[in-house]
Amino acid sequence: MEALGTVITYIIAISGGFLAALWVASIFWGYQDIADRTLDLYARLFAVTLIVLLGPIGVVLYLVLRPKRTLDEAYEHSLTEEALLREIQEAEYCPKCKHRVERDFVMCPNCHSDIRRQCPSCSRVVEVFWERCPYCTESLRRPDS
Ligand SMILES: [Zn+2]
Ligand SMILES: [Zn+2]
Repeated sequence: MEALGTVITYIIAISGGFLAALWVASIFWGYQDIADRTLDLYARLFAVTLIVLLGPIGVVLYLVLRPKRTLDEAYEHSLTEEALLREIQEAEYCPKCKHRVERDFVMCPNCHSDIRRQCPSCSRVVEVFWERCPYCTESLRRPDS
């Protein structure tokens, strides 16, 4: 029976070693994962402590509590939001009918009123009240004014 006892001890030692390795690996994984998600030192410390103290339960708790986005994803998300916001802020509207117009429209597509005009020299879109073209310095005064 002594041989069986040795085998059992051996199995316990191996599975213990395996669990210990798994535990250490999960600590390293947690450390890397939280580093990708937050710059907050206390949050990082908390995440690692959770896994160190509770092992697999700590990993599960961490997966529930961790920030949803990695820092890269959060950065990309903020860029998208910024672009959307800029588009909304930069939207222009016809002064007469409030129809949405593009920045380089010369005429409102809805009420056909002049929003801007084209420089007679370089054909670029210029504001109605400009006296000279900022692109080619051509005078924009109309002959009648
Ligand atoms: Zn209009
Ligand atoms: Zn011009």
